[in-house]
Amino acid sequence: MDFLPLYFQLQGKPCVMVGGGTIALRKAILLQKSGAIINIVARKVLPELRQLAESTEGTIRIGDYSVADIEGMFLVVAATDDEALNKQVSDDAHQRQLPVNVVDSPELCSVILPAIIDRSPLVIAVSSGGKSPVLARMLRSKIESLVPAAYGRLANLVGGFRDKVKLSYKTVDERKNFWEEVLNGPIAEMVFAGKDTVANQMLSQRLDAEPAEMIKGEVYLVGAGPGDPDLLTFRALRLMQKADVVLYDRLVADQIIELTRRDAERIYVGKKRSNHAVPQEDINQMLVKLAKEGKRVLRLKGGDPFIFGRGGEEIEQLASHNIPFQVVPGVTAASGCSTYAGIPLTHRDYAQSVRFITGHLKNGTADLPWDELVHTNQTLVFYMGLVGLPIICQKLIEYGRNPETPIALIQQGTTEQQRVLVSNLREMPATAVKEQVRAPTLLIIGEIVTLREKLAWFEH
Ligand code: SAH
Repeated sequence: MDFLPLYFQLQGKPCVMVGGGTIALRKAILLQKSGAIINIVARKVLPELRQLAESTEGTIRIGDYSVADIEGMFLVVAATDDEALNKQVSDDAHQRQLPVNVVDSPELCSVILPAIIDRSPLVIAVSSGGKSPVLARMLRSKIESLVPAAYGRLANLVGGFRDKVKLSYKTVDERKNFWEEVLNGPIAEMVFAGKDTVANQMLSQRLDAEPAEMIKGEVYLVGAGPGDPDLLTFRALRLMQKADVVLYDRLVADQIIELTRRDAERIYVGKKRSNHAVPQEDINQMLVKLAKEGKRVLRLKGGDPFIFGRGGEEIEQLASHNIPFQVVPGVTAASGCSTYAGIPLTHRDYAQSVRFITGHLKNGTADLPWDELVHTNQTLVFYMGLVGLPIICQKLIEYGRNPETPIALIQQGTTEQQRVLVSNLREMPATAVKEQVRAPTLLIIGEIVTLREKLAWFEH
């Protein structure tokens, strides 16, 4: 390690900046944020820099640098384009053991300014030791996208309780366990959801309660999207990496399961080879039981949990047991498949509305309001429609929809294996048999399907 990262308390402390141009200005903005008093010495000073230094109650001296300028300073920054002068400042500071930063010359620095992710009071610093500031900044952007904006508020909330927690929990280990539970659990999630006041109350209650009274577990009902892992939301990914147990079914792609925590227990609740899925009631009870054991339970569902996902039933049980839960939307199959097949769901010229319909058969028939489904200006999207495909096509024709109406069948949409068949209501049932279509498949019906000829972009 070439540099040891330390965080510098500069509130109200005098610092000096040698140089008065744009580079000096950039550094000065950073110093100002940390509350330092900025003194400037330079032959010429940009008006903005002058203003900024004055706003920190620093002094501005127009003239040549002399060693007296750095005496008594907490930090010295050389930001001139004169290499010899920069070196002089660095030498003087080193002799006096004052921390010195020379812009763009790591070899002259005793301290360097890292790239910063500012979620004050939480601050993350990234440094390449001056070797590649661009790389450090790229890494910063990545971290920016991973760290929820609310972490700053979370840190503030926690900061306000530190003394109280110290009184309640005597040992370092006890305190560590307590904070880990708070920061990984429902209280932190409340802050992320923007409910700081509720989080504050929960934290107070948590401190007053006996540990045994607390249900520590929680459930995340998360939509995993239609297949392509890139379509996960940030929140889905974050919760996937947090959960202790994962319950998933057939529709969730292996690649997505791979993104859950390595050491998480993974429970498959979809259809087994015997073709029997774990009954819904058992899943509901399993969620309650695991959460009561104190686990963070991820219920991962294909697509969106509230669209043909029975997500509502699962959380009803949780609600009645007072188990904290949250629901994360996902890209539903209709959105994913239509987009990746190049078929818009609405279009000013073809369809002013779209209907999501279940094609699941009950007693060998689909009991649907067929007369409503034959209007030409609406797009129909059938989920679970493969088995019922012949009946769906036949009924639509019987109730008056043109047998030539285009229909697309999308198999394993959004994945590398995506297949799209386009035909019409009359011929699609035979085409699907001939092409040996396999689940999961989605049906899109309407004139809009013809747009695919121009708009298809995904298949290779
Ligand atoms: N909650 C899910 C739907 C579950 S119902 C969602 O919002 O997408 C299961 C049906 O979804 C399947 O029978 C199929 O019709 C459809 N489906 C889900 N993923 C699909 C995919 N990748 N390709 C095609 N159809 C898909």
